[in-house]
Amino acid sequence: MVSIKRFEGDTLGVNEDFTYKMSRLGIVISVVSPIALFWTGFRWDWFIYFLLVHRFLLWGHSMCLHTYFSHGAFKSKRWFQFFMGVVGTGAHLGSLFAYSGVHKIHHSNADKDGDAHSPVHGFMHAFILWRYKEYLTAPKGVKAFRLKSVYNWVDPRYKEFPEIIWLTKYGFVIQNLSFIGAYLVGMVLEYFFPAHWTALAFFVYVKCLPALFVQLGLLSINVFGHHKWLGYKSFNSDDLSRNNFLGFIMWGSTCFHNNHHMFPKSARTGLTFWETCFDFDYLGLKVLEKFGVVWGIIEPDKAKIERGREEFEQEENKKVYIDLDSCA
Ligand SMILES: [Zn+2]
Ligand SMILES: [Zn+2]
Repeated sequence: MVSIKRFEGDTLGVNEDFTYKMSRLGIVISVVSPIALFWTGFRWDWFIYFLLVHRFLLWGHSMCLHTYFSHGAFKSKRWFQFFMGVVGTGAHLGSLFAYSGVHKIHHSNADKDGDAHSPVHGFMHAFILWRYKEYLTAPKGVKAFRLKSVYNWVDPRYKEFPEIIWLTKYGFVIQNLSFIGAYLVGMVLEYFFPAHWTALAFFVYVKCLPALFVQLGLLSINVFGHHKWLGYKSFNSDDLSRNNFLGFIMWGSTCFHNNHHMFPKSARTGLTFWETCFDFDYLGLKVLEKFGVVWGIIEPDKAKIERGREEFEQEENKKVYIDLDSCA
């Protein structure tokens, strides 16, 4: 259970209402701006740029915001930490600590009262409505968590890094200004490469659409990463989390969500051969480790994985036995 004390201590000193408005403005821009597609039309080369940038932002979500800033599943050189902070902020999923604060609440109470965004509290609540709640649901006797207070939270692990504090403090403002920045870059490209780009096409395909789709990915994993409709379980993780290969398209390496909830501190989410083939974040980390950019990559040992699988299978077999018995 999340203790409210975990979110006390140093504060960023931001105005919570202003940050909330900036966050809502970001959502409105992300949803409305792709309408410009009607004026730009479609070109395959633009579409490929969209896919590449979207995949890069998915990495910004799954490895930077999630595996590194939320779970601290590996150590990083300071310059690479800042790079991950920039890409994570560019994923338009909240400021660094706001994302990780809400995510900690999610793990501590997954699919129970107190979870920020579980489908057990309603499909639309898990998808989007939780972001508009003043207070999160709380178990009886526990003070409900005021969502806006996460905007001022400082993760103590990054107190010594002023560049990360700065990125978090101005995260939502940076995200909104980046839309204007993208259009200006598009204007420069249109001037130098008029056969390839228009300012509006760059704005839509390289900025607006990737930003929208990476947000839709996060919102949908809140629902379908924890819903019995899709995917499979490999472990008894005491929640409804599911693994789902299809989720790789929209969620990246976090698609093995049941594995992740079973071993939340692990940087590795793919735990079988085929899962590992799709765990691009982990494979990329192993390459970066060779160059000394990251180290201390946490992953579960084989014995724990095997034990977890055996316990899950025993539970599943019990269920079959009970079902057969009730038919007799
Ligand atoms: Zn989850
Ligand atoms: Zn997590």
